[in-house]
Amino acid sequence: MLVFKFGGASVKDAAGVANLANVVKQYTDHQLLIVVSAMGKTTNALEKLTKAYMDQADDIHDIFNEIKEYHYNILSGLFETGHPVFDEVANTFVEIDWAIEDEPHDSYDFVYDQIVSIGELVSTRIVSAYLNKEGLKSKWLDVRGYVHTDNTYREGVVEWDKTRASISKDLPALLDKGIVVTQGFLGGTSENFTTTLGREGSDYTASIFAACLGAESVTAWKDVPGILNADPRYFTDTVKFDELSYTEAIEMTYYGASVIHPKTIKPLQNARIPLLVKPFTDPSASGTVIKEDGHNKFVKPVIILKQNQVLLSVSGKDYSFITEDHLSDVFRLFAQNNVKINVMQTSALSFSVCFDLNEERFEKLLNGLKQDFKVKYNEGLTLITVRHDGVNTIKELTEGKTILLEQISRNTIQVVVR
Ligand code: ASP
Ligand code: MG
Repeated sequence: MLVFKFGGASVKDAAGVANLANVVKQYTDHQLLIVVSAMGKTTNALEKLTKAYMDQADDIHDIFNEIKEYHYNILSGLFETGHPVFDEVANTFVEIDWAIEDEPHDSYDFVYDQIVSIGELVSTRIVSAYLNKEGLKSKWLDVRGYVHTDNTYREGVVEWDKTRASISKDLPALLDKGIVVTQGFLGGTSENFTTTLGREGSDYTASIFAACLGAESVTAWKDVPGILNADPRYFTDTVKFDELSYTEAIEMTYYGASVIHPKTIKPLQNARIPLLVKPFTDPSASGTVIKEDGHNKFVKPVIILKQNQVLLSVSGKDYSFITEDHLSDVFRLFAQNNVKINVMQTSALSFSVCFDLNEERFEKLLNGLKQDFKVKYNEGLTLITVRHDGVNTIKELTEGKTILLEQISRNTIQVVVR
């Protein structure tokens, strides 16, 4: 059986959904499980809605209406009025009405997951109904009964034993009957609350199902020809890798290559399942194959940019040396506030850390750190990582920019610049 993952860009409009069906038509000789993300930029819009609700801002309903409009437009492009999918989608949106009815009393991250998850619940309703309309028999599956997580909202930790048991109990029989369409990015807790697995987590969902079912392969259908040495939004002259090893792919995603979610590779590597990254506009193209013996051929260095970085330094209030005790306090605060460290560096008197800005988490972290340390920080920075022969590349990329931190190891150079 095959696992397909379609991201937001692939289903951003009616034509995208129709294209998905055309891709799927070419694989009907296989059992298929299809994992779908929220349509287009819906997750960003739902994040905005969550924030507006938590702030009790004036534009809550405007933001919500825009999200609904967008989906009804896509529906109208795909179905005749009166098709039952209109009601299914409306009923799903009602869950948001309930969530935002009263003033907020739950934690931000909890509310976020209950609202933001609607994006995937709606997109899969639409995709599943459309496949059926096209004669591709499909069943909509609520992933929250299969991907079980703890209650770390916005960063649900998968409970593998339970997940594996649920998936292997039901899925084989369902896949025998037809295509299964389910939501990426979501999980469910033991109390039946919805969790999310971290932004862009749908790839990870695909890999969870593939690992539990021993799939032949996972295909992530993307708006790029495969994995490129650099992000084509920022660089011209990119080259595509035909093959990569799991290890190189893990390294690339660890440093922030956004083409694949970082948690995706490990379960596939353990189960020896190849991951194909292919363009949804050209299903017959070769794309990139990530596998155990994937041959890494670096015609050009790998370049990874991470924007919106904070560089923060802590030092002792009394100018004391930074000791292991201090470091363990600092790390504890990072872990407690769910702030992931991208690069770090120690000197005698200070410890510097670079991480993605997430305003709520940053504020809590800062409050914690300030109790015991002097804290300085800069926001709005870029972290550039270059792998494999990057010395000249890094020179070019940092020309005219202020370098605030630099770290060089055997295969990797990282700099934080303004
Ligand atoms: N829709 C979610 C996001 O945009 C998950 C995903 O796309 O993988 O982060
Ligand atoms: Mg998305």
